[in-house]
Amino acid sequence: MSENSIKLIAIGTTASVIAGIILLTIPQLRLWIGYIATWIWTALTATYLVSGWLLLVVCFITLIGMILIFSYIRFKPREPLFKLYTEDFIRSALWRWSWADSKISNLWCYCPHCDATLIYDDSSCSVYNRMEANKTDFMCENCSNTIITSIEGGDKGYACDLIKREISRRIRTKEYERLINKELS
Ligand SMILES: [Zn+2]
Repeated sequence: MSENSIKLIAIGTTASVIAGIILLTIPQLRLWIGYIATWIWTALTATYLVSGWLLLVVCFITLIGMILIFSYIRFKPREPLFKLYTEDFIRSALWRWSWADSKISNLWCYCPHCDATLIYDDSSCSVYNRMEANKTDFMCENCSNTIITSIEGGDKGYACDLIKREISRRIRTKEYERLINKELS
């Protein structure tokens, strides 16, 4: 006898047994379905302070609400990974920022030695200063006004935009993921 024939016989026997059990229990099933239907009808047509049908509608709306809340909690979109990236060492200073949607906000730099907030000097960018090249120095008052970093090319706004571009680059190239993974591990 082939393997397929044995499988067919086994399936046929199982199906016959299940069908037999269902046929045996049908009278009880009918009885129970009758009881349940009668109970539902009585419950719906009974006299309450509010109509049974109104209660049914309220229950239905509540059920839908619960399903929606559950779906929102269960399938709430996760925040993108880059939003965990909120600090990094760039140009010898520790820069920190926060995310407003997908834009960098509250960007500023801190001393890598003592974590003090750095102050800046972009007086070289003044229209009256033609002696120096445009640059912005970031200094730590806590470390004897040491210049922590100096960004050439423009004033404080230019320097912050340059850092934002560098942060975006590290996100695009996924360099930031190493930092995040180190923090998460
Ligand atoms: Zn310092």
